[in-house]
Amino acid sequence: MTAIGLLLLLAAPAHAVEPVTVVEATGYARTSLYQDVIDFLYQVERTSSLVALAPLTTSAEGRMVPLVIMSKERVRTPAELRATGKRAVLIVANIHAGEVEGKEACQMLIREIGSGRLAALLDAQTILVVPIFNADGNDKLGKNRRDAGPELAGVRHNGQYLDLNRDYTKLESPEVQALVRLFNAWDPALFVDMHTTNGSYHREPVTYTTCANPNVSPLLTDYMWKKLFPAAAATLAKKYGWDSLPYGEFADHANPDKGWLNDTIEARYGTNYFGLRNRLSILDENYSYADFKTRVLASFAFVRAVLEFTGANIGEIAALEQKADVETAAAFCQRPFAVEATIEKLMDVTVRSFEFSKQPIKPEDKTKYPPWVGDVLIRPTEVLRDYTVPYLALATPKRTVPLPFGYVVLPGQDEAVRIVQAHGIAVERLLGDCHMEAVRVVVEKVELAKNIFQGHVLVSLTGHDEKVEVELPAGSVFVDMRQPLARLIPVLLEPTSTDSLAAWGFFNRTLVRQWSNEPGSYPVLRVGGRPPVPMLVANGD
Ligand SMILES: [Zn+2]
Repeated sequence: MTAIGLLLLLAAPAHAVEPVTVVEATGYARTSLYQDVIDFLYQVERTSSLVALAPLTTSAEGRMVPLVIMSKERVRTPAELRATGKRAVLIVANIHAGEVEGKEACQMLIREIGSGRLAALLDAQTILVVPIFNADGNDKLGKNRRDAGPELAGVRHNGQYLDLNRDYTKLESPEVQALVRLFNAWDPALFVDMHTTNGSYHREPVTYTTCANPNVSPLLTDYMWKKLFPAAAATLAKKYGWDSLPYGEFADHANPDKGWLNDTIEARYGTNYFGLRNRLSILDENYSYADFKTRVLASFAFVRAVLEFTGANIGEIAALEQKADVETAAAFCQRPFAVEATIEKLMDVTVRSFEFSKQPIKPEDKTKYPPWVGDVLIRPTEVLRDYTVPYLALATPKRTVPLPFGYVVLPGQDEAVRIVQAHGIAVERLLGDCHMEAVRVVVEKVELAKNIFQGHVLVSLTGHDEKVEVELPAGSVFVDMRQPLARLIPVLLEPTSTDSLAAWGFFNRTLVRQWSNEPGSYPVLRVGGRPPVPMLVANGD
């Protein structure tokens, strides 16, 4: 070959061969390994002007976690996105690396958009995809799921033995820290988090829900349940042929008529957390007992249906979220904040399911089953049966606390302040001492959980409020509730919030002191106005 011939060969576009996913190449027997995903993404990126790749972060074990940016304008940064005037929509898969069909569906989506076949999805929006969020868990293959394939899959935890979907308030993993940085920088209008569920037996391959925390803006949840979900579910059924259902499980497995329940309301879960940021979120849970091919194709079609909806309605969604931001900054602190909730009926749902056989479990055999199985072993029979039952998914405040104008974090809590700032919450540092009225929490009891959870011994506090005149020292940090992320602030700083920094143990050193029988003090005060002293916005460094 001549030198010129060689040059021509090197310059030839590589688009002749389109990439094939591991599931497609193996007849849906295997799921992709980390390197398979990376190779696949590089192959798409090389041949498509619609796809750019960026590192989201480096995992605990040193793997690059890829972020795929798809746009018509070749957007690569948040600044470039802002220049287009468009909004981003974000899909994350494989947060639990044993739940793998989302990772496969995302690769197909990236190829279909990258090839131009689904390029119309980019007309009005930029699409961000993190197809393999838990890169470290992915290749630790084992028979990690007792379901309908693939034969082997990765593990739930990341390289630090953390469940990433419990890390959204305390932010201890590089993966979730990076995703929250992405939320702050790219401000996606919607976040889809893809999982697999092995709860109750039913026939729909796709289930979905949104933020269920009682402190979310109802503007957002109303939009999801009344508009987005009905439209996306109709598209999924009529255009793509897949049934879907709001996410949940039978409240009583032995008596399905009692209701269909989702009581996962804590802010530590990604889709609840994202809702508290005044943005739309979708928890996609695909049905574990459906065969693997069905799960891949149905979840791919679900994401496609959602993206078709957001593409057609992104202006309306952006306006809704802006309204939620304005309302939150102006008035959220005037409302009571729910620290405990009861779960009530949101609406009726029809679960396409089965008649069940029930076999009582002998007392001596109970230890063979996980505690949630109860007293009766339930198995689906061949007889199909639909249950129209209440969907128990509306978290209604049971115990509330009044919110202050703002909080003051006393000096000595740098780690806690760094976490507050990492969420994107604005904080200001007092430049001098000052005197003001405040409400302090008088701690009466510090109780510890019996078991370790996510590496922590959860702390619960009992106490009462006391109005005091205080000297605030220079270096204290003021957190003003008049900001769009105000819903997150009491989640982190109220002493009895289930996901507070106190609950996760970040105030332990102040709460319990050495050589003292006296209870320590809670290092966060509630204040009714801005501290009367010059302050500087702290920039997070
Ligand atoms: Zn999961």
